[in-house]
Amino acid sequence: MSKLIIGSHVSMSAPKYYLGSVEEALSYGANTLMIYTGAPQNAIRKPVSELNIEEGRKLLLEHGIDENKIVVHAPYIINIGNKLNPPTYESSKDFLVQELKRVAAFGLSILVLHPGSHLKNGIEIGLTSIVEALDEVFSRDGTDVKIALETMAGKGSEVGSRFEEIQYIIEHTKYPHRLGVCLDTCHISDAGYNVHDIEGILKTFDETIGLDKLLVLHINDSKNERGARKDRHANIGYGEVGFETTHAYIKHPLLMHVPKILETPYINGKPPYKIEIEMLKSGQFKEGWVEKFDN
Ligand code: FE
Ligand code: FE
Ligand code: ZN
Repeated sequence: MSKLIIGSHVSMSAPKYYLGSVEEALSYGANTLMIYTGAPQNAIRKPVSELNIEEGRKLLLEHGIDENKIVVHAPYIINIGNKLNPPTYESSKDFLVQELKRVAAFGLSILVLHPGSHLKNGIEIGLTSIVEALDEVFSRDGTDVKIALETMAGKGSEVGSRFEEIQYIIEHTKYPHRLGVCLDTCHISDAGYNVHDIEGILKTFDETIGLDKLLVLHINDSKNERGARKDRHANIGYGEVGFETTHAYIKHPLLMHVPKILETPYINGKPPYKIEIEMLKSGQFKEGWVEKFDN
């Protein structure tokens, strides 16, 4: 009997850095976590030697948290989806090489990446740009960290809102063993999949990509209806996905070994993860919990 692996994205900031990230996750009752190695919106990064990695790892060990299930998320500003814009394309590849080295320095093994945006140059340019960039990055980074390509909502010109696009990338790179997938419940609904048909989703995923490639689940509700392509996350039970469907992903036997990470919005400036994790562990939805939220 394997146990639920659940956590949320947590911050990593001065003065405690990684130690503070682990403490934050533990305060939510989580047994995994997701970090950004710096601000998600920029590529400015502190040297790993200043991030209290050893202290954080010690605390993880004390609590029996499996580092293989901890996730790092790459910043949003990198885009390997458009080789027709060489400055961004080249700097994004360089950043990714450094980011993979940083993930390895944390003792971690999964980096979630938004595949990229083709910026009106068409899906073909998008896909080939991503394949070529990943091939170069994997030839240069010298780690065995895996990149989990995230299923996207399809906002703007995002690549990766269809499972077939993700599969195309994995199939065409020279390093398929270094790639996996992060499935985001808000994004698949926004992209037009019927998120409530979990058996259908898993079957389609297995037939196109292969369930063995699924490394991470992002557990979010969506503020918008199916197919809206908006990518606005809602709190658990407060959107199109709903509590019952969300809990079906949490408890599904085929997904038991996959770390589940919440990226739901803060409420009045405060993180909602302790309550959300509690509800998802117990399977009991607390009616009106957002309205009553004050902790
Ligand atoms: Fe993401
Ligand atoms: Fe996500
Ligand atoms: Zn999102």
